[in-house]
Amino acid sequence: MKKILALNLKMNFDYKDIKNYVVALNDNLKASDIIVLPPMLFLPYFISQNYKIGAQNISEFDNGAYTGEVSCSQLKSIGVAYALIGHSERRQYQCENDDKINSKIKKALENGLKVIFCIGETKEEREMLKTSKVLKKEIVDGLKGIDENNLKNVIIAYEPIWSIGTGIIPTNKDIVDTTKFIIDTAVKVFNYKPKVLYGGSVNEKNIAELNKINEISGFLVGGASLDVKKVLKMKEVVEK
Ligand code: PEP
Repeated sequence: MKKILALNLKMNFDYKDIKNYVVALNDNLKASDIIVLPPMLFLPYFISQNYKIGAQNISEFDNGAYTGEVSCSQLKSIGVAYALIGHSERRQYQCENDDKINSKIKKALENGLKVIFCIGETKEEREMLKTSKVLKKEIVDGLKGIDENNLKNVIIAYEPIWSIGTGIIPTNKDIVDTTKFIIDTAVKVFNYKPKVLYGGSVNEKNIAELNKINEISGFLVGGASLDVKKVLKMKEVVEK
């Protein structure tokens, strides 16, 4: 099965860079399973060019006096299809806890957005053999109170925090074992079998090896998504 490639551009690029990026992509991602997550400001630009688009963040509130926030209905109204929720950078720098993440997931689903829900353990947690415990808590608390029907629209992204931006990646066996654990947990607790993406230092060089993992449904890519040449090489691999 063809795998999904989700490109998290994070807080990179100005308008000129974005236009150059899109010119260099040269329509290459449009008819594919590639989701671009640009900075919020540039969402309309990608939408006008017909890309499959996600927001890197959403508000858990409907509307009103929430300065600086962007609501799910606003995003939906311009054609955004996905919301990235629970990314470790937001957990760390914006102090987003499991309760807030749960509220955001609910709000996104209520508004018809599909969710890419990130979970992952720190290096210390891994060394202390707490990976399963941490992931289970993130899954259970992040998805509580969401019915089976809505859970179908939640893709889980397994992103070991120690792998994000470090160039260090787990072995394929580790990814297989952890993915099985994630799917097993979701099935047991919520009766839902999620698609699982792997994220953490995926690039044009290692993606062919990672692509052999049948248990995962795709990749969430940060750093390597900023270079169009790397993106096109990764696309070639996942679409083989
Ligand atoms: C990420 O931040 O979601 C990510 C996977 O980053 P990188 O690919 O740079 O490790």
